[in-house]
Amino acid sequence: MKRKSGQDPAITRNWKPATLAIRGGTARSDFGETSEAIFMTSGYSYENAEEAAARFRGDTPGMTYSRLQNPTVEMLEKRIALMEGAESCRATASGMAAMSVALLSMLSAGDHMVAGKIMFGSNRWLTDTLFPRYGIEVTLVDSHETAQWEAAVRPNTKVFFFETPANPSMQISDIKGICDIARAHGIISIVDNAFATSALQRPMEMGADVVCYSATKLMDGQGRVLAGAICSSEQMITETILPFHRNVGATLSPFNAWVVLKGLETLDLRAHRQSENAMKVAQFLEGRVKSVLYPGLESHPHHKLAMQQMVAAGPIFSILLGGGRKEAHGLLDGLNLIDISNNIGDSRSLMTHPSSTTHFGMSEEARLAVGITEDMIRVNIGLEDADDLIADLDQALTGIGL
Ligand SMILES: *Cc1c(COP(=O)(O)O)cnc(C)c1O
Repeated sequence: MKRKSGQDPAITRNWKPATLAIRGGTARSDFGETSEAIFMTSGYSYENAEEAAARFRGDTPGMTYSRLQNPTVEMLEKRIALMEGAESCRATASGMAAMSVALLSMLSAGDHMVAGKIMFGSNRWLTDTLFPRYGIEVTLVDSHETAQWEAAVRPNTKVFFFETPANPSMQISDIKGICDIARAHGIISIVDNAFATSALQRPMEMGADVVCYSATKLMDGQGRVLAGAICSSEQMITETILPFHRNVGATLSPFNAWVVLKGLETLDLRAHRQSENAMKVAQFLEGRVKSVLYPGLESHPHHKLAMQQMVAAGPIFSILLGGGRKEAHGLLDGLNLIDISNNIGDSRSLMTHPSSTTHFGMSEEARLAVGITEDMIRVNIGLEDADDLIADLDQALTGIGL
């Protein structure tokens, strides 16, 4: 291995986020390649039998099997940790692998957890369907109402779990307020930061113990791979996350890790430009549709809190058209530029109808309880020219009489 300055804490300590995004975690092979190498290997060989034994004992450094360690994946883990300001990071096969591993490694039968009611659909499947089967009790709270977190605490509460902004109603939760309550009770706070990333919001600086990611979203940001990550203290990763993750096996492919490494190089640029574009499009839509749920707009009920804890409001918002599914599907079908797609964080603008796609698996009653009405459309604004996006929406809205 050649220069490993990107992996030397004495050096990276002085680097700013923009530098970390490009160079953090980089470890070059003997070829001295400028871009990170992709190590597509499942295993590693040893010079002699004693070296193999020493590596398994942990007496000498080095890798043993790619479910446990891989040089490309390790570069990604180090880069994400540095960008997050976390001591350590473990990369996972997808965002849901990150959420499942983080939660299941910390919770056992008989434990209780409190979670925000408005969450990504698969997170709600964990809380509503999987955890009860495993004897883990869950209380869902209205996450924005910080007092509800305190009120839900029981002697066996182990974990607080929430996302902000929350999908798809764009509700904002008070990260510091909720994490302070967790800390006071010895409860672990876990924040799903997929909508914002460290470029726009830094939950650890507000007291979060664990930050989880779908790296599929803004981190890759170009709609190519599934990936996830868990950031936390060295102790939490080594003692709790790692044994669970390496044995359960939701490991990230080295190729996908490499794609996300490339994505991180432009994360800050994309997150800011997409936020600016989203603001322009949201401002156009305000007044044209029944309501626009974007934390960047002053009309959003949690605008002030959002701007206290976020650098910018991100690329994602939802709109309510008035009417129902007919209008919502009509708008989607009238688009010429923006794709009908349920991904988010992508550099392409995408729109989806949550009640018939991402949140189709929830009962109508449960959907309405978290504000997912038939006339709701979720919007991801990409890197195209905002004027072209506005023109596309303008003609599609005209097409349905709005
Ligand atoms: C997409 C998403 C997930 C799941 O991530 P995958 O990479 O699709 O597994 C979890 N939480 C949030 C907030 C998401 O947007």
